[in-house]
Amino acid sequence: MTKTIAILPGDGIGPEIIAEAIKVLKTLQNSFALDIHLEHGLVGGAAIDATGYPLPDETLDLVKKADVVLLGAVGGQKWESLEIARRPEKGLLGLRSELKLFANLRPAILFPELANASTLKPEVVENLDILIVRELTGGIYFGQPRGIHTLENGERQAFNTLVYSEHEIERIARVAFESAEKRQKRLCSVDKANVLEATEFWREIVIQVSKDYPNVALSHMYVDNAAMQLVRAPKQFDVIVTTNMFGDILSDLASQLTGSIGMLPSASLDANNKGMYEPIHGSAPDIAGKNLANPLATILSVAMMLRYTLNQPKLAIAIETAVSQVLRDGLRTQDIGQNAISTREMGDAVVAALLRSA
Ligand code: NAD
Repeated sequence: MTKTIAILPGDGIGPEIIAEAIKVLKTLQNSFALDIHLEHGLVGGAAIDATGYPLPDETLDLVKKADVVLLGAVGGQKWESLEIARRPEKGLLGLRSELKLFANLRPAILFPELANASTLKPEVVENLDILIVRELTGGIYFGQPRGIHTLENGERQAFNTLVYSEHEIERIARVAFESAEKRQKRLCSVDKANVLEATEFWREIVIQVSKDYPNVALSHMYVDNAAMQLVRAPKQFDVIVTTNMFGDILSDLASQLTGSIGMLPSASLDANNKGMYEPIHGSAPDIAGKNLANPLATILSVAMMLRYTLNQPKLAIAIETAVSQVLRDGLRTQDIGQNAISTREMGDAVVAALLRSA
C-alpha cells in the first residue's frame, strides 16, 4: 500500500537538505519499487511568514493523516523577537506533542572514514556506536507552570517546571531497554538524582522497569559526569536513556564525537512506531542558502524512517551503504573535511552510489 510521507522543510538550511533527501526518496521510488507519495507542508518560520502560526492547522492535518513525517529544521534570527509561543520552535514542539512522539532515538555512529574529522583522538572514537534515547514530550520543555512575572517588589522573575509522571518514565525506559536488548545489552540512565526530586523519581521508575529486562545491565550516571565521560571515554556507553533537556544537550555533544552535527539522524516515535524523522541539527542560519550544508544527517534520517516506520530494513541498509561509499570515495562537505563539495553534489553522489547498488 502506498505510504504518504509528509515533507516539512522548515527554515534556514532545512529546504536545502530536504531537497537532497527527496532525491534519495525518488530514487528509491523509481529504482527500488518503494511505494510512496510525498506531500509538502509548512512549519516554523516559513509557516509564520505564510500564515502567522508556526504550526498551522493544514500542517497538523497533513501530519496526522500521513504515515510518517520528514522534517528539515526550524528557526532563525528573523523570528527571535516574537513571543515564545509564536516562535518557530513552538511548531516543532507542537508536532512532537500533537503526534505523541515521546521517544527520540539519536544514534551517534562514527563512520570509520571520519575518524579524523572528530575533534577527539581517533583511538578514542573509532568504532563508536552509541544510541541516545531521549524523552521528548515531557520534562522541563513542557512542564507547567512556566513564564516570566513581576514580584510584589517590582523585580521580574522567570520560572519553568521540571515534571515527570510515572507512565512517562516507564514508557521511555521500556523503549530504551528494548533497544539495548537488540544491541550490547547495556543501558545507562542519566539523571541528576542527587539534586532534583523529579530525576530521583526517574531513577526509581527506571529501576522498577529494569526487573522486566534481566538481560540488560543497567547503570546510572549523573548528567555532569555523563558529559565528562562522553568526551573522556565514549565507547563505555551502549544505550543512554535520559530526560528531554539532558538528552537534548548530551546528543549535541555526542554529535561532535562523530565528526559533525551534520552527520546525525534522529527518529521520534509514538507508541506504534509512527514517527517523525529529522537531523539533530538546527537551521544553521550561518550557512543557509549557500549550498554548503551537509545533507547526510537528513539522508540518514530517511534510512531510519525506512527501518523503524516503513519496515524496509534492506532499503535502510542500502542508504547507509551508499553514504559509507561516498565517504570512502573521499567526498566531504565543508563541516567534515577539506576540498569540500556542495550540498547538492553530496546528494547526487549518494544517489549515484545507491543506483550502482540497484
Ligand atoms: P544549529 O544546529 O543550527 O547550528 C550549529 C552549528 O552547526 C552552526 O555552525 C552550523 O553551521 C553547523 N551545522 C548545523 N547543521 C549543519 C549541517 N547540516 N551541515 C554543516 N554544518 C551544520 O544550531 P544553532 O546555531 O544553535 O541554532 C540555529 C537555529 O536552529 C536556531 O533558531 C535554533 O532555535 C534552531 N534549532 C532548530 C532545531 C530543529 O529544528 N530541530 C534544533 C536546534 C536548533
